[in-house]
Amino acid sequence: MKVSKRAQSVPASATIAVTSRAQELKAQGVDVVGFGAGAPDFDTPEYIKDAAIEALRAGKTKYTAAAGIVELRAAIAEKLHKENGLNYSSDQIIVNIGGKHSIYEAMQAVLDPGDEVILPTPYWVTYPEVIKLADAKARIVQTDKSTEYKITPSQLQSAITKKTAMLVINSPNNPGGFTYTPDEQRALAEVLEGTDVYVISDEIYEKLIYGKTKFVSFASLSEDAYNRTLTMNGFSKTFSMTGWRLGYTAGPLNVIKAMARLQSHMTSNCVTFCQYAAIAALGAPAGEAIEKMRQEFERRGKYMSQRLNGIEGVECSEPTGAFYCFPDVSSHYGRNINGAKITGSMDFAKALLEQANVALVPGLPFGCDDNVRLSFACSLEQITKGLDRLEEWLNQ
Ligand code: PMP
Repeated sequence: MKVSKRAQSVPASATIAVTSRAQELKAQGVDVVGFGAGAPDFDTPEYIKDAAIEALRAGKTKYTAAAGIVELRAAIAEKLHKENGLNYSSDQIIVNIGGKHSIYEAMQAVLDPGDEVILPTPYWVTYPEVIKLADAKARIVQTDKSTEYKITPSQLQSAITKKTAMLVINSPNNPGGFTYTPDEQRALAEVLEGTDVYVISDEIYEKLIYGKTKFVSFASLSEDAYNRTLTMNGFSKTFSMTGWRLGYTAGPLNVIKAMARLQSHMTSNCVTFCQYAAIAALGAPAGEAIEKMRQEFERRGKYMSQRLNGIEGVECSEPTGAFYCFPDVSSHYGRNINGAKITGSMDFAKALLEQANVALVPGLPFGCDDNVRLSFACSLEQITKGLDRLEEWLNQ
């Protein structure tokens, strides 16, 4: 059977590829340390599981409105109001099958063929693919360590053309582990004033911020920003619910309605009993569980970045958000390590896995070949063991 040109144009996710290879080696009995994870290594809090079980027992097992049950949309509206200073009505919110689906559907609802989407590096691997699937074009803006990998207002200004339809902002950032300050976001928002550029603000790592870092929702910066922004968030990272597939989008009513029309033909509603669990997740006693997880990530991120920085030829800043370190390892490029020629991040990751049994993700699919991504969603013990191996491997 033939495969469409559309499907052929989309590669498998590079992050999943690394995890699969590491799992293959583990299955063969190899002691692999995996730094590939994109999911918190904590279980979903018990009270959320209980709410799902209760919903199942109460017969919440049938279709709901495609955009989600009103009670959940109202709970999300309240969360956005209380925590983010955003005023959305329930109608301006759609519940999607994970944040990935939110982004896919938002692009399908807004973009036309030939539209351009400004995408700063490093970007989450899925963005370029969903832009392509909407027949639009990613206009990639290369950032570097001089601005902590953040796009500057002047870079944004020069990337805008007549065809620009959208800017994607992801803060805290995957894979970069950095967070835009409110002032930095405000400066970007000001550049957009007077243009027709929409914004997707991917806020999925909102609760995982460290040190003095402050989180701000892009749409809350000004009335202008509110009107041009689709705020995207989800339950995967904050509540350790990656497998439940729950994300949401809030924004202008006409776009949310368009997304709901698309969703009504693509997937219909999110799993019904999961929607009830999501209402529970947003209520008390979420704070305590989230804070415990956040503190643990902060401790690990500090340790991992310090260790990485102490390795010859590795540069890593301390993460301010998410659960990733994104060191520059490019000073090792050009070396030959045990017969493996390291020309870039792909060779680096492959050789490290094969020779030292450490799995990390190359930076190339994130648009930064000088870097590699290490997730600290694993125990401190694993982190220590993996970094010992990495250090030894590089010091040969
Ligand atoms: N955005 C970013 C930046 C992510 O890293 C992820 C998960 N890897 C998502 C969105 C989507 O998460 P989910 O589909 O599980 O909600």
